[in-house]
Amino acid sequence: MNCMNDNFGRIINYLRLSVTDRCNLDCSYCKRAASKSQTLMTLDEIQKITRLFAEIGIRKIRLTGGEPLTRTDICEIIYICKNTEGIREVAMTTNGILLSPEKAKELRNAGLDRVNISIDGLDPGKYKQIARAGSLTAALSGINASLAAGLAPIKINTVLMRGVNDGDIERFIALTDDRDVRVRFIEYMPMGGKAEESYISAEEVINARPWLKNHDKVEFICSVSQPFCNQCNRVRVTADCKLRLCLGNNLEFDLREMLLRDNAAELLRNAIAQKPQRGFCDGFVTNRGMGNIGG
Ligand code: SAM
Repeated sequence: MNCMNDNFGRIINYLRLSVTDRCNLDCSYCKRAASKSQTLMTLDEIQKITRLFAEIGIRKIRLTGGEPLTRTDICEIIYICKNTEGIREVAMTTNGILLSPEKAKELRNAGLDRVNISIDGLDPGKYKQIARAGSLTAALSGINASLAAGLAPIKINTVLMRGVNDGDIERFIALTDDRDVRVRFIEYMPMGGKAEESYISAEEVINARPWLKNHDKVEFICSVSQPFCNQCNRVRVTADCKLRLCLGNNLEFDLREMLLRDNAAELLRNAIAQKPQRGFCDGFVTNRGMGNIGG
């Protein structure tokens, strides 16, 4: 089996594949651009891309977006990814709104291994204030549907925002009680060159609740206060089929063009080798919102 290292010796084996930039929510922190890709990847392109990435050493794929469940062919996408030689795990990040019991079963039967469900508020009003659409009831039902379908462990993704949801941390953790559910508190990443006003560090949250340090169902994603660039094993494909090497760096490569070449695998390896050592450097300002890259 092939293995891919970048120029800094990091093993690259994880692909985040953004299957759409459309979303049924409009989360305040996501800064998804209003303009939509004219040309989302087709199933044929997804199949070619998955094979190519597996050939150079990708072993895990996470489907993201936009909202991946807004694609009516999401089960075919999962099936393609899961049945590509070399791919061991297919996961999805979703807001859970469309995760009915039937849908969750279909996803599981198509080959989905796990889901992360993004929920940022636990009162219907607060949920709506952040997500600006959808409903908390639907998102919470998505957790139950995923558990019933065997997509566990379910991870809840919550972006920490001071004065918005940092007072609800205990309630988020209570969602993990007595079932195979974990919660990941994610630091609010700035995509526009300066820290977000409601940013709160994981350290501050933990210092106020020292018992959290040993909680086996709680994880903190400290992408801002303690970036993990030196262990980063991931690359991204955007919904309009561009290879993006780092969330915090605008360097991108046109995969559609690459796919036309006989030496596509070599071109892909050369591109991935150039993954920047660190992201979010020197007042970085993104050329795309998070929802256009896939988070
Ligand atoms: N629609 C799906 C969802 O809601 O999970 C997938 C796309 S969303 C862009 C992927 C993840 O990125 C979500 O968990 C979301 O919370 C996270 N995210 C978006 N903007 C963020 C930001 N500025 N800082 C930290 N995480 C962010």
